[in-house]
Amino acid sequence: MLNYIQNVLIPPAINLLQAALKVVPLSKNITIDTDTTCSGEISTPSIYKTEGVAADLVLFITTSNDASSNYVAAAEFCSLSLENSRPLVGKLNYNLYYFSPTTKDVTIESHVYTTIHEMTHALGFSSSLFSSYIDPTTNQPLTGHVGTKTVNGGEVTYINLPSLTSRLRDHFNCSTLEGAYLENEGGSLSAGSHFERRIFFNEYMTASGIRDVKFTEFTLALLEGTGWYEADYTYAEAITYGKNRGCDFLDAPCVDISTETSAFPEFCSPLTAIQPYWTRRGVGVCGAQTLTTSNSLDSNWNYWQNDTVVSDAYSDNCPNVRIYTNIDCEDSSLQSSALLEDQESYGYGSKGFIGTLSSGKSPLSSVYGYCFLPKCTLQGNGDYELQVQIGSSWVTCENNAKINPPSKSGLSGKLNCPDANDFCNQITTEGNCRGGCFGRGSCVNQQCECEDGWGFHDCIKKTYTDNCERCAGLDPWRTSCYGETCECNSNNSTCMCELGLMKGSACTTVASESKPMIFIICGAVGGVIGVIVVILLVRFARKLYKSRKETGAEAKSGSYSSKGSGRQFENTTQAMVTIRKDVTLNMPIDIVDVEVTTVLQAMATSREVEPSEKTISC
Ligand SMILES: [Zn+2]
Repeated sequence: MLNYIQNVLIPPAINLLQAALKVVPLSKNITIDTDTTCSGEISTPSIYKTEGVAADLVLFITTSNDASSNYVAAAEFCSLSLENSRPLVGKLNYNLYYFSPTTKDVTIESHVYTTIHEMTHALGFSSSLFSSYIDPTTNQPLTGHVGTKTVNGGEVTYINLPSLTSRLRDHFNCSTLEGAYLENEGGSLSAGSHFERRIFFNEYMTASGIRDVKFTEFTLALLEGTGWYEADYTYAEAITYGKNRGCDFLDAPCVDISTETSAFPEFCSPLTAIQPYWTRRGVGVCGAQTLTTSNSLDSNWNYWQNDTVVSDAYSDNCPNVRIYTNIDCEDSSLQSSALLEDQESYGYGSKGFIGTLSSGKSPLSSVYGYCFLPKCTLQGNGDYELQVQIGSSWVTCENNAKINPPSKSGLSGKLNCPDANDFCNQITTEGNCRGGCFGRGSCVNQQCECEDGWGFHDCIKKTYTDNCERCAGLDPWRTSCYGETCECNSNNSTCMCELGLMKGSACTTVASESKPMIFIICGAVGGVIGVIVVILLVRFARKLYKSRKETGAEAKSGSYSSKGSGRQFENTTQAMVTIRKDVTLNMPIDIVDVEVTTVLQAMATSREVEPSEKTISC
């Protein structure tokens, strides 16, 4: 498991954060002068007690196996800089009860997003760090940036950072928005340290696992607003939830109580109806598979006037489509279990549709979910034409019509078509460069062009050219070595490979990083199952650094500027890398959010439903 974490999950997570963030560099190594750190859970590796490590952030990665808790991962920061209160040391814990190594692409991707989510907490997105945020021009703590307001009868906490609020106002088209609403539900470690699920839905810093998460400008803007980082927004993924809906989307009830219908398309109705997921990633059910009630429900959230509560514990009881785990259209492993196995298409780019299509002579008697590849073509009049591939045929999906399948498909029933402009605008806006190509590629025409050494549609995976690399355990898809010493047979040579290090004559083809991007110490430490020490080198103003070297200027943390953004980081205090010892603050935990797995009934055929997938992350 440790090898899965360090070889599969950590590298793309660090790649993305390093690409998207810049930080004022420290002038000294990070050191820890106590025997234990992170609330005593980590025995301090000796290197930290001596010369320290050249890094911007040290994260200790730990694992536990806790069946009694429902958290999937948690983060904690352990030490802050005396210089500007920025976190320097943190801990990231995976609960292996919900987290197992996998070769399933969509699950790996989800695990990587969880890893980035936890790292983001450690970087600064945590309510217990809000008071440490600084104005980078003065290095003084920010004040007055956290407030509360009443929304739909309840109190909402918001965070108002200039970089963030202006982007939110643009996105929601609400010029009076005070700031980003923070999660108001869940325990003390969930509430307040995540974006509000009701309005941010699939943003990756919402509080529980959800499909098709997006690494957006909002979290980058929040991190920039800490005063500790500068963000490169070209790595942000677009999000369409709530876009241009206006202030009512944020503040008014999500459901019209008099008609029991949703006030915006983001909030589905009627409850329990089978519908496409918001991002079109698949098909799910509105609000809840099975309706339940709560007699402690806030009266302002009693939208159906019968104490009905929806499944999403973080959405202020607003209904959204809960995706079926067996109709996640990007999960290619589901192809063989598709209702119309030969006609549907599961995999990257496929989208969810509903209808009554059946391979039998009669249509299904009720609506079902399907995955098909769409094609959007912009017409001369500015409207989109939507086509859908059913089997080998492309059929035009007329606006909001129920269309027949291609005659040669042999299918009966209808396919329900969406509004073509709505559908195409959404999937075009959201694009296909997932995760900003995870920091290892360029997004060209909505497709990632990956750097050498990285592959898959989003550059999330390392690629390999010879057996030695695989031998090194860097490719868990092809070897079980996982970094242990192993024999490598390239060119009939035998070599011993260690993680990240290529030893022996035949294993020299792998270029090592010019910088020790990841420094790893494995083994049991203290009572923890395993510890990996990750040194996160957030990429800082490289151009600036280079020119400093050329001019002989000393690169110290006391001055920093970025010509590109026009912003100036003036940090006039002495660089003090001493770790603040008295800080032991908790970071948020992230909750398992079990997705809908109950049988989706098909009247004309039986369909085996995937077993429950304990999805991690948020
Ligand atoms: Zn979280």
